[in-house]
Amino acid sequence: MAKRIPLVIGNWKMNGDIQKTNHLLQDIEEKLEDVQSQVAICPPFTLISQALMAISDKQKIRVGAQDVSAQAEGAYTGDISSNMLKELGCTYAIVGHSERRLYQFESNDTVAEKTLQALHAGIVPVICVGESQSHRASHQQNEVVRAQLLPVINSIKQFTQLPVVVAYEPVWAIGTGLSASPEDAQEMHAFIRELLSELISEEKAQSTQILYGGSVKPEVAAALFEKQDIDGGLIGGASLKSDSFTHIVKAAG
Ligand code: PEP
Repeated sequence: MAKRIPLVIGNWKMNGDIQKTNHLLQDIEEKLEDVQSQVAICPPFTLISQALMAISDKQKIRVGAQDVSAQAEGAYTGDISSNMLKELGCTYAIVGHSERRLYQFESNDTVAEKTLQALHAGIVPVICVGESQSHRASHQQNEVVRAQLLPVINSIKQFTQLPVVVAYEPVWAIGTGLSASPEDAQEMHAFIRELLSELISEEKAQSTQILYGGSVKPEVAAALFEKQDIDGGLIGGASLKSDSFTHIVKAAG
């Protein structure tokens, strides 16, 4: 079966302002003239409209959100719904990022609800999973990732025709400068693909883009992306500079 189209998504986290958004996106667009990979950036909510205005080719660089509400609408002060994101022009929404699991106490069930909300609105959820350092040290990474994905997979079973993206982001690799080795990352990606096959279908497993995230830098990107089951990256720190981000995108294809 043909390999999936590579995808690289930049997660700006809580960084940026209007001027930086304009400059960064103008630079990225100039440097990405002949790229085949799919590319997206996820700025803070308040910069989504600005980002969309700054991008001239919206097919080439897509825009996503870093989170989405687990609710459809109503009395949920501070939440942003998937329909609101869709109306703005978002293609993707990151769900279950480890920083939200840690600081906002998001559970696996909440991540499953958010995934479902995204799908209902026609947004592609980017479902983040990954083990902590202590789970990796005690060889429990597969159990942790399975437990994180199970409620999500159960909640999306009736929507198997809709695309989802999975991002494997070991918590110990995020923002630490310590990327997973290509071999360890590949092993986990293959495990995630097997889970999708076992719990949904082989077709879903083969068509789902599985991204690696965690301290991806230009120097390590190519070795990660050449692995069979690594379809691109979710990039934090390195997505805030046009040189490093576009270098990583080019390494994906
Ligand atoms: C992330 O926040 O999703 C991430 C992968 O961050 P970094 O690339 O900075 O490790």
